[in-house]
Amino acid sequence: MFADLHLHTNFSDGTFTPEELADRGQKAGLGAMSLTDHDTVEGCARMAAACAGHGIRFISGTELTAEIEGNEVHLLGYFIDVENPKLLGEMKKYQTVRQSRIHEMVKKLNELNIPLKAETVFKLANCQSPGRPHVGRALVQEGYCANMDEAFDRFLKKHRPAFVPKMRVSALDAIELVHNAGGLAVMAHPGLNRTDELIPSMVDQGLDGIECYHTKHSPSTSEHYLKIAARYNLLVTGGSDCHGYSKGKPLIGTVKLAGDHLEKLIAAHEARKNPRR
Ligand code: AMP
Ligand code: FE
Ligand code: FE
Ligand code: ZN
Repeated sequence: MFADLHLHTNFSDGTFTPEELADRGQKAGLGAMSLTDHDTVEGCARMAAACAGHGIRFISGTELTAEIEGNEVHLLGYFIDVENPKLLGEMKKYQTVRQSRIHEMVKKLNELNIPLKAETVFKLANCQSPGRPHVGRALVQEGYCANMDEAFDRFLKKHRPAFVPKMRVSALDAIELVHNAGGLAVMAHPGLNRTDELIPSMVDQGLDGIECYHTKHSPSTSEHYLKIAARYNLLVTGGSDCHGYSKGKPLIGTVKLAGDHLEKLIAAHEARKNPRR
């Protein structure tokens, strides 16, 4: 049994609907899936229903952008209660900031004589949690860039002229938000952020796990994080970070988390729900 625990739909910057994603998961032979859209859980109910229809175990999730000591880290929350008022309230704030960030990015593009309209981006995104990939897709759609890589390389990446930083909560606040919603907090793709030295303080702040398996992790990178997970007694997770067709080919099912890691994750969540006295 294999799981893919890092997936995006069109409720954030993926291109698949929850139903399409669940279908593809079934075709890829997955036994369990999580939906980890950026700053939203809106797709979780539909994804849960679609997974149930295929006999696939569904784990609710989200991916938050957090900050620790000036570094950006992405935090995955698993098993969160998708109706938790505090969680929904905070996410609403992040979404509002994401929406004004689109206006800021478009303004910067306009100053560079790229007459893209914010309205075009919002129409294309058609979600509460828009991000840079939507601006990138709009730039391609309107013929200002040949492809997404060009859009990011010329305009949207850090240090490029239309880059606008994202609102980042502190890692401690993000971990507490996830815990408060009954979830487990996991550091996403540590190999991408290269922030190994921050792991001990995040462990002190309550980090539960680390995403050892990810599309952008080489086998040796995964090995490296498996050792770190063992050293700090962290849960091990993994997923493809599939965004549908947003970044080339759909990646769903290309990173497979083994059943024993999934069982430990489920057991940790059960233990959290029913603490022994
Ligand atoms: P944001 O959350 O708005 O800062 O956007 C971050 C998203 O952009 C993440 O999902 C990244 O994987 C995605 N991204 C970064 N670089 C590229 C690229 N070259 N092409 C497509 N998507 C990208
Ligand atoms: Fe994304
Ligand atoms: Fe991420
Ligand atoms: Zn992601």
